[in-house]
Amino acid sequence: MEKTKVKKRIVLVPVPAQGHVTPMMQLGKALYLKGFSITVVQTQYNRVSSSKDFSDFQFITIPDSLPDSLINLGALQFLIKLNQTCEASFKHCLGQLLQEQGNDDAIACVVYDEYMYFSKAAVKEFQIPSVVFSTTNATAFVCRSFLAKVNADKFLIDMKDSEMQDKVFAGLHPLRYKDLPTSAFVPLESIIKIYTETVNIGTASAVIINSASCLESLSLARLQQELDVPVYPVGPLHIAATAPSSLLEEDRSCIEWLNKQKPSSVIYISLGSLGLMETKDVLEMAQGLKNSNQPFLWVIRPGSIPTSEWTESLPDEFSELVSERGYVVKWAPQMEVLRHSAVGGFWSHCGWNSTLESLGEGVPMICRPITGDQRVNARYVESVWRIGVQLEGELEKGTVESAVKSLLVDEEGDEMRKRAIDLKEKLKASARNGGSSCSSLEDFVNSLKMKTSM
Ligand code: UDP
Repeated sequence: MEKTKVKKRIVLVPVPAQGHVTPMMQLGKALYLKGFSITVVQTQYNRVSSSKDFSDFQFITIPDSLPDSLINLGALQFLIKLNQTCEASFKHCLGQLLQEQGNDDAIACVVYDEYMYFSKAAVKEFQIPSVVFSTTNATAFVCRSFLAKVNADKFLIDMKDSEMQDKVFAGLHPLRYKDLPTSAFVPLESIIKIYTETVNIGTASAVIINSASCLESLSLARLQQELDVPVYPVGPLHIAATAPSSLLEEDRSCIEWLNKQKPSSVIYISLGSLGLMETKDVLEMAQGLKNSNQPFLWVIRPGSIPTSEWTESLPDEFSELVSERGYVVKWAPQMEVLRHSAVGGFWSHCGWNSTLESLGEGVPMICRPITGDQRVNARYVESVWRIGVQLEGELEKGTVESAVKSLLVDEEGDEMRKRAIDLKEKLKASARNGGSSCSSLEDFVNSLKMKTSM
């Protein structure tokens, strides 16, 4: 009888939020295909199901003792609390894994999300190799390093000055003050606190990042200079490994609806897994979309309109505005939607996954960032890669209409589409054998194999 080869183990620690779970599971899949066995340590909140796609993965749940309502505090505050409560339970969990392991399936490395920094204490105590996984990009990482060291008092004064808002931040060209990853919902001290934790990589021996050198070579070089350990840009991971890990049920009826639309005619709208919208803005958007005369597929996540379960609190006017050309769903199979030939543009909050997914399909974007690194990404979409327009200030039906038209009807949109398709080809090439991201993943795997004599 053939003996099954026992594999060295990689322990993954994802943040329990869609935008972090997705790339972590993709990384897990890529590492699994390279010959490692995978253990996912997750909290009770937002667990990934051990579906058939991950039937060979081991899933362990650690208690987080956080009430679900805590997420309403906002993502950063939630993460601060999560890190406070999980340190001890993760240590306990890792201790048990170490006791149970044999020589052959020993833990080669713990890969933790940069925001799950409670992991640092356990890997240090047990002297286990560890690696930080950044699910954002190098530019956002560099910004966080800047903010971690900023003089909070002076920075707050600068941020309140409306003229300053439009100025480029020294050393971070082309980012302006208003593009920095701060938040209107979280006090600056909390932001500085969490950024200080994420950029301090403790005993980690490398940083893996879901980005590619063709997107931000300067920021990657700068990050590499800043850190004493290798930085491996291995993205976009969704091209390297499919790992379906949607935490919400996807409504596939929108694909049938897309099948009936003309090529490159539809604007797809989604604000990701956490974005919220005021009723007033929803109505301005709906009016502008209707006036653009283009068909639109709109994801309105349950709970994303405050005080409403879904869309029932919206005035009747909303259904009238969307009924003719719109199709509204609660959650879409986004990657499939972006790949669909009917989709000509993506209205996005510019979360890094959404941005990478749009870039990976050559779809130009309307950027409406809400908070944090979304602003950095939006600025890059508009003025570095030049594949989209950013909607700034108050949302107003006239600007919505012209943004949609500029992407789907005007010549400007064709130019953006050409550049987006060019980037798509570059990204595909970087993920292929011999491409920069593919080689980077190989280098990381080889470094692990050398350390663990696999
Ligand atoms: N997504 C999806 N269906 C939707 C909306 C979003 O599958 O209807 C996925 C999207 O493909 C992306 C993730 O949710 O992978 C959102 O991550 P992102 O980093 O863009 O934003 P976040 O949710 O973290 O703000």
